[in-house]
Amino acid sequence: MSKQVNLEKKVLSENDLLAAEIRKQMTERGIVSLNLVSSPGSGKTSLLEQTLAALSLDLRIGLIAGDVQTENDANRLVRAGGKMVRPLMTGGACHLDAKMVSRVLPDFDLAGLDLLLIENVGNLVCPSSFDLGENMKVVLISTTEGDDKPLKYPAMFRRSSVMVINKIDLLGTSDFDITRVKENARRINPDLEIFEVSCRTGAGLERWFEWLVDLMAKKQKVHGERSDVAMADADSEQR
Ligand code: MG
Ligand code: ZN
Repeated sequence: MSKQVNLEKKVLSENDLLAAEIRKQMTERGIVSLNLVSSPGSGKTSLLEQTLAALSLDLRIGLIAGDVQTENDANRLVRAGGKMVRPLMTGGACHLDAKMVSRVLPDFDLAGLDLLLIENVGNLVCPSSFDLGENMKVVLISTTEGDDKPLKYPAMFRRSSVMVINKIDLLGTSDFDITRVKENARRINPDLEIFEVSCRTGAGLERWFEWLVDLMAKKQKVHGERSDVAMADADSEQR
């Protein structure tokens, strides 16, 4: 058993090193990167479709659509207007890892990208352990699931910065209690930013779009200041 634990540790630490490299590459270019995680069917692809439709004119968005076997989600995202969509089939693996992401990154023109959205495989367990070099994990939960999911999968909710509650148009059709799910989630992670949306009706999405645009603006401001510093340093070296 300890052999297996050691192997897992080795795999994860190799993954973390590679993820740190990816993050550095993204930061240098001022790209914000989000890793979307959830159970199958919570609406990751639907949220991405809506996000592309709303923000594609203002932001240059790259998408990595992870899937175990098919390119169906990637095709949906291209139809939704995604110009830079790259399917990533895991061939059976139940999560994405940093190595898979680094293999597809050269397919993107990173200099022409503001935002990189990664749709992970639908699974709330192991994707929580694999850093993909993202700035934040965004966990989705839909009102057709159990409101105790944050308690059942605490690692995922602890490591996420944002929780999107999808399918609020279906509230009241099941025992799902939105107050309880938020309490459960905040018990695990008090800092979670929470959004309540319906990707079907569009309810609540405006706030999500605004938050994304704000996030980009903050990140690019920091990036701009850093480039200024770098240029000032270069100037002073020349003198
Ligand atoms: Mg999907
Ligand atoms: Zn897995």
